[in-house]
Amino acid sequence: MPERTLRVCALYPDLMNIYADRGNLTVFERRCAWRGLGFELAGAGIGDAIDPDAHDLLYIGGGQDRDQALCARDLASVKRDALHAAAARGAVVFAVCGGLQLLGHGYELGDERLPGVGLVDLDTRREDGPRLLGNIAIALDLPGGPNTLAGFENHAGRTYLGGGTEPLGRVIRGNGNNGSDRTEGVRGGPHGTVIGTYMHGPLLPKNTGFADWLTATALGIAPGELPPLDDVLEAAAHAEAARAAGL
Ligand code: GLN
Repeated sequence: MPERTLRVCALYPDLMNIYADRGNLTVFERRCAWRGLGFELAGAGIGDAIDPDAHDLLYIGGGQDRDQALCARDLASVKRDALHAAAARGAVVFAVCGGLQLLGHGYELGDERLPGVGLVDLDTRREDGPRLLGNIAIALDLPGGPNTLAGFENHAGRTYLGGGTEPLGRVIRGNGNNGSDRTEGVRGGPHGTVIGTYMHGPLLPKNTGFADWLTATALGIAPGELPPLDDVLEAAAHAEAARAAGL
């Protein structure tokens, strides 16, 4: 039996998985296996209740507006209390793009307003203007985590953080939350474990240090306590990105 097991629950795995976000789950699974850690993956679809104590990391991927509309009401009703309880005990809630847009108060789409799950103070709306689309790099400051992330964004919704709400990072190149204030994503909740980002790719194969930060945080340990893996190529790519950005 492995000493520790990372217990992941993917929310709406059939509807919220645009841009191969399942690849993020594979990274968690593989890196646990390579380290001799256990890994469990559960799924929760529309109508399924979540046990707030049963998962260390709850994952919400990206989605088209029409798929988000199917999930938003369920997230804000059936799963709301369990997600708040999980975040309150320090579980990681990790949401990508369409998932990020549902973490806050709501997502306004023309005449329609999708409810958010209210885990963090942010709001999202469609605005006139182009989709925010292309490669993106951000600088971030996570205890024991990487200082840059690289990914890809493609969203029409613009997200605005409430006063005092921390972004996940600051845009080096690309658009981020809204294309204007240089914020990217969000990091909040009672323990700073509610994490959202617009970065796809999928994100984690390109940013293994961030995958480890999420894994360690979900397990309640410091990232440095995870047995090291051979990430020489990833580290070199990130060092080069940081150098090019003058970090
Ligand atoms: N539907 C959302 C938007 O276009 C999110 C898209 C996505 O997850 N890439 O803003």
